[in-house]
Amino acid sequence: MDTRIEKPDRQGRVIAKAGEIIRNGGLVAFPTETVYGLGGDGMNPAASAKIYEAKGRPSDNPLILHIADRNAVYDLAAEVPLAAQKLMDAFWPGPLTLIFPKASSVPLTTTGGLNTVAIRYPDHPIALAMIQAAGVPVAAPSANTSGRPSPTRAGHVAEDMIGRIDMILDGGEVGIGVESTIVDVTQPVPMILRPGYITREMLEQVIGPVETDEAVTHWVGSGDHPKAPGMKYRHYAPRAPLTIVEGPQSEVVETIQTLAERAFSQGKRCGIIATEETKGDYPRGIVFAVGSRRQEESVAHNLYAVLRRLDEANVDVIYSEGFSHDHLGMAIMNRLVKAAGHHVIAVGK
Ligand code: AMP
Ligand code: MG
Repeated sequence: MDTRIEKPDRQGRVIAKAGEIIRNGGLVAFPTETVYGLGGDGMNPAASAKIYEAKGRPSDNPLILHIADRNAVYDLAAEVPLAAQKLMDAFWPGPLTLIFPKASSVPLTTTGGLNTVAIRYPDHPIALAMIQAAGVPVAAPSANTSGRPSPTRAGHVAEDMIGRIDMILDGGEVGIGVESTIVDVTQPVPMILRPGYITREMLEQVIGPVETDEAVTHWVGSGDHPKAPGMKYRHYAPRAPLTIVEGPQSEVVETIQTLAERAFSQGKRCGIIATEETKGDYPRGIVFAVGSRRQEESVAHNLYAVLRRLDEANVDVIYSEGFSHDHLGMAIMNRLVKAAGHHVIAVGK
């Protein structure tokens, strides 16, 4: 299959074409404010099957339906609880996915067999124009091959999806860089199933106490059944083994220096994920500054691109500095700890 890569034009022809492809059962990758999505008609089981195939994604891992009009939620959800309405008022359009009881119109292939449905109203002009042009809810997981870091620019999508999908809409680099926060509003106390840019504190300001699913912070294996089925898969994994070192900054730097020295003496190529503040502290290794500790948003923005560049750098081992577990740090560490297969060394405690 030929995959066309196109930038939206002023006349709207490219967006109209993308919408037509989706309506006809094809697949289009498109930018959102979080990461690039791989979109297909969410009401067409054959399109969902194509999405799973293009990604190599297990079919019990449900897809998020993307809408371009808040009222579309009432066609897709059997019930919209009050907490959900408050969250929609506060954060839609935006990087927040809500889990509802599903309406009978939503195919089980889209929801991975679940009787709930995940819905998001993204805040990105190209995503919204494309969904409108398609005229259907757009099922879209991240546009990466299953197990690789999510794409944050069109070039990343091309690396994974050339020849597998009909079109890539190139909208440049995305803003946020980590996937949406997922909140299950079907329970009496709403629960975060996946942390993201909308933090627990932000949610609690709107609806009061919110719980966090165990799968966010604890190891879940393939035999477990976390509430967001996707959380059990080893996501975001670079090819080389990754270890996180966390603790006070000076001790983290010292420990990584020692580990990098050891790798070097064994003839191994060592990648290091550092920050703007510490990148000059590592004489050995291929060093990537992922962002600034003073601005956590910059770390979220660059994280997946750095993981992809570490793959290109052909390193044998990777060491990463750890980050705070609070606020946006919860989303960053959730992705990083999963990428590391939970290999974390705590120092200075
Ligand atoms: P991605 O599309 O790659 O951002 O992944 C979508 C995430 O949403 C996965 O972790 C899914 O398991 C989760 N998800 C989608 N639909 C549901 C649902 N109905 N209930 C719980 N989690 C869901
Ligand atoms: Mg994904």
